[in-house]
Amino acid sequence: MNVINIGYGSTNYYAIDYEKKYLLIDTGLPGTLGKMMSQLRKYGIPLHDVHYLIVTHFHPDHCGIAQEMQSLGVEIIISRSQLDFLESANESMKKFQDFKKIVINPQNIINENDKPSFTERLGIPGYILHTPGHSDDSISIVIERLGIFIGDLPFQNNMNIESNGKVDTSWSQLRSTNEKHVFPGHGNTITL
Ligand SMILES: [Zn+2]
Repeated sequence: MNVINIGYGSTNYYAIDYEKKYLLIDTGLPGTLGKMMSQLRKYGIPLHDVHYLIVTHFHPDHCGIAQEMQSLGVEIIISRSQLDFLESANESMKKFQDFKKIVINPQNIINENDKPSFTERLGIPGYILHTPGHSDDSISIVIERLGIFIGDLPFQNNMNIESNGKVDTSWSQLRSTNEKHVFPGHGNTITL
C-alpha cells in the first residue's frame, strides 16, 4: 500500500494505491477536471484503476469535481454523518457554474467507526471518523498502518487557531487510532 499526493492548486489530493486499485481522497475545485486528469496521467494512474473517492468535507477545493469523477466511474463513498450535509452542500456549491450536483448511491453510505463495512466495501483496511472542527461535515479517513487523512482539521498546536472543544475532541479520536502519519488537506505530512 502506498500513497501519492497528486494535489494541485495548494490542496492535496491523495491517491492510495492498494494492489493497483486506487482510493482518491478529495478532488479539485469546480472546473478543474482536466487538471485532475492530467495529474493522474503525470503520476501514471489510469482513471479506470481509481475505484473510489472520499471527500473529507464539502468545500469547493475538496468536492468540486466529485460528481464528474463519479460519472467517469469513480464511486463516491460517503459517511453517514456527511450525508446530513449533502443537500446544503449541493445548494451552496450552485454558485460555481461548473459544479455538478453530487448524487450518492445508497450502497456507498458507510457508518463512522465501522471497520468491517469499510474494509469489505473498499477492500482496504480502514474506517471513517467524524472529526468536526474545521466544519461540521468534516471526516477523517483512517487507513490502517498507512495513516490518517484529516482534510482541513486545524492542528492543535497552530497558534493562529483558537483551540475549541470540537478540534480537541477530534484530535483525541485521531490519537487513539495509534496511527503515526497524518495527511492534511493542505501542507506537509506530519508525524504524531
Ligand atoms: Zn475546507
